[in-house]
Amino acid sequence: MGKVADLHVHTNISDSTFSPEKVVSLAGLAGLDAIAITDHDTCAGIAPAIMFAKDMDIEIIPGVELTTELEDDEVHMLGYFIDWQNKEFTKKLEELCRVREERAKEILRRLSEQGIDLQYEDLLKLAGPGMNSVGRLHIANLLYAKGKISCVRDAFTKYIGNNSPAYVKKFKLSPREASDMIKSVGGVSVLAHPKTINTENRPLRDTVGMLVGEGVQGIEAYHSDHNARESNEFKALAKEYGLLVTGGSDCHGLGKKEVLLGKVKVSYELVEKLRDASRLKQYE
Ligand code: AMP
Ligand code: ZN
Ligand code: FE
Ligand code: FE
Repeated sequence: MGKVADLHVHTNISDSTFSPEKVVSLAGLAGLDAIAITDHDTCAGIAPAIMFAKDMDIEIIPGVELTTELEDDEVHMLGYFIDWQNKEFTKKLEELCRVREERAKEILRRLSEQGIDLQYEDLLKLAGPGMNSVGRLHIANLLYAKGKISCVRDAFTKYIGNNSPAYVKKFKLSPREASDMIKSVGGVSVLAHPKTINTENRPLRDTVGMLVGEGVQGIEAYHSDHNARESNEFKALAKEYGLLVTGGSDCHGLGKKEVLLGKVKVSYELVEKLRDASRLKQYE
């Protein structure tokens, strides 16, 4: 069998329950040859993953997942083969994470209005040391740990999902700003999990067209939430717009119902195409 990769993996530096080291060990067990670390708005999990992978036959692709907003709709954008140590880039990410802190506190305030009192300190305790990008999945898991809901999904449907009573919007980063940010550090920008894009006001095909106009270079056709038919639809869109194709599990450790790492395995050829499209050759 040829080499395979999982190009969408979170660590506990953002909202997975697995440390970067644990992610790398599990990637080895899952038979992966390469993984991309794509934490939300932070690259602090990349260095420990690379360190830990040194003695193993696993390649760590430096990545990030940025939250953007397109006409009020949330659009996640992945960046690959980025120069993650770039100072200006790091500063921008730190600012995004600071906004996340404020937002998490605001969500807790709104939950208390709903009669649910959660402490920010407990949120930090649950996330563990090292976490620097607090998000809704942490809040969902705290709600679960405190017995306020019967499953993590309920947290989103009842309280913190888009349009729910305690939902607080996040950033004003536009798709253009995000793709520029990624390109400014040599990376390739990819539309994450296109299935989650709101299609109430516009067909997905048109939204993808708009995003291409904003600088998006690829589409995550393969994802844990996509069935074969959907992946084929997204691949067809990739062909139509000349986009790179990627895929990944979007593993969040035990933060979601199951451990997804390696559930999506894409051919290493896709990794090579991504690398060729990036400006960074030092990772070869
Ligand atoms: P945030 O970046 O803080 O807005 O949180 C986004 C995270 O929440 C992502 O990792 C999603 O996987 C997770 N998430 C969003 N909606 C849901 C949902 N309905 N069920 C479970 N997880 C969700
Ligand atoms: Zn996440
Ligand atoms: Fe996402
Ligand atoms: Fe993700």
